[in-house]
Amino acid sequence: MERTHISKLKEAVGKEVLIKGFVEAIRDQGKIKFLVIRDVTGQVQVVVKDSPALEKVEDLTLESVISLTGLAKEEAQAPGGFEIKATDFEVLSKADPELAIPVVYEKSGGEVDVSKRFDYRWLDMRRPEKQEILKVWTHLEKGFREFMLSQDFIQAYSPSFMTAPSESGSEVFEVSYFERKAYLAQSPQFYKQMAMAAGLEKIFMIGPVYRAEPSFTTRHVTEFTGWDLEFSYIKDHYDVMSMEEDMLIAAFTEAKEALDLDIEIPTKPFPKITMVEAKEKLKAAGVHSAKEHDVSPEEEREISRIIKEETGHDFVFLTDWHVSERPFYHMRHEDNPQLTKSFDLIYKGVEITTGAQREHRLEVLKEQALEKGMSLDSIAEYLKFFQYGCPPHGGAGIGPARIVMKLMDLPSIKEATFLPRDVKRLTP
Ligand code: ATP
Repeated sequence: MERTHISKLKEAVGKEVLIKGFVEAIRDQGKIKFLVIRDVTGQVQVVVKDSPALEKVEDLTLESVISLTGLAKEEAQAPGGFEIKATDFEVLSKADPELAIPVVYEKSGGEVDVSKRFDYRWLDMRRPEKQEILKVWTHLEKGFREFMLSQDFIQAYSPSFMTAPSESGSEVFEVSYFERKAYLAQSPQFYKQMAMAAGLEKIFMIGPVYRAEPSFTTRHVTEFTGWDLEFSYIKDHYDVMSMEEDMLIAAFTEAKEALDLDIEIPTKPFPKITMVEAKEKLKAAGVHSAKEHDVSPEEEREISRIIKEETGHDFVFLTDWHVSERPFYHMRHEDNPQLTKSFDLIYKGVEITTGAQREHRLEVLKEQALEKGMSLDSIAEYLKFFQYGCPPHGGAGIGPARIVMKLMDLPSIKEATFLPRDVKRLTP
């Protein structure tokens, strides 16, 4: 007999079915016993009576994996409206009677320690609402990829091992690489730009990014997935923002439709304010500002709240950052060289993207690097990309885990990450 997934039982009413999954609950009422079986598509109640299965239930343990046959029927009383009358079952893998963490919390009374949940992530992940997180990510990424393809972007992958850190700063992991030292990529930035110099015109990347951040926040991990895009012949950073708006609308729409999610699809155009305007608004709202040209996490939350109140929008672009807060390769405004053609995108109070038009003119690029106190030797490999012609271009780096966190209202980026890595955690 072919296996039926629990979500498909509706189509099998009146028939003998074979289901496979975890035993989520066992209720013993003497001559009748009830089981709840869970697979990746849902849960179903099973009634066991007058069958050889009845005795076997005695030895069954919670969270064991079983294969069960029975008659599928409608049952208004049962959760989901269906029930299976068991004929027999076989234990495929017996679970230890003492679970390291409970899979169903109600039974154990309250939440389990977060760290312990991550120690046993494979048990934690058995909960349907946890599995939903990865399903949402999957469909957001499908939407991202399909939108990129619809715009004729080409996908590329970039290496994680590098000879020099991809951005200046201390957040880089050093690894031993045969006789030498290598660094783990903090972003695919340089390679995306190399693709522009290669004439690929529009590229996107999905891959791991490493940051040796010693921070313990709800939005940083040391290894995360980056969605990156870069494209040529743009007018300015507004072209990049517009592309990201369309992409996010496509991704949200795909996830909403595929999973029947109750989420709001953002509308275009997203609100955009310059950093100067943002600072004015924050000041007017009485929000303390520690840095003139940067926004703290609190300021990100507050500006998001203000824009939400003013426009109803969950997203806001902060544009035209001061040169002091941006890397040397961000292009500057012709009429105000103190400002870069750059932006951050804030979603529900958290930064999810940094983007910019890049400086593609070698001489200007060198000047900007020197002005930042960098040695040209340290970026010699990168500078070469601009030596033989490179189209004007721009792009953005996006953190999907932060999007999923805010979209699903999760307390931390780790909850949105299958196997999070932070300062303390290297397992499982
Ligand atoms: P933050 O200021 O929040 O530390 P950042 O300015 O270092 O972020 P970028 O280098 O611009 O971030 O990276 C682009 C995007 O990658 C960010 O907008 C965010 O979505 C994501 N990102 C950056 N650092 C992390 C991290 N440590 N963990 C998870 N996602 C991250």
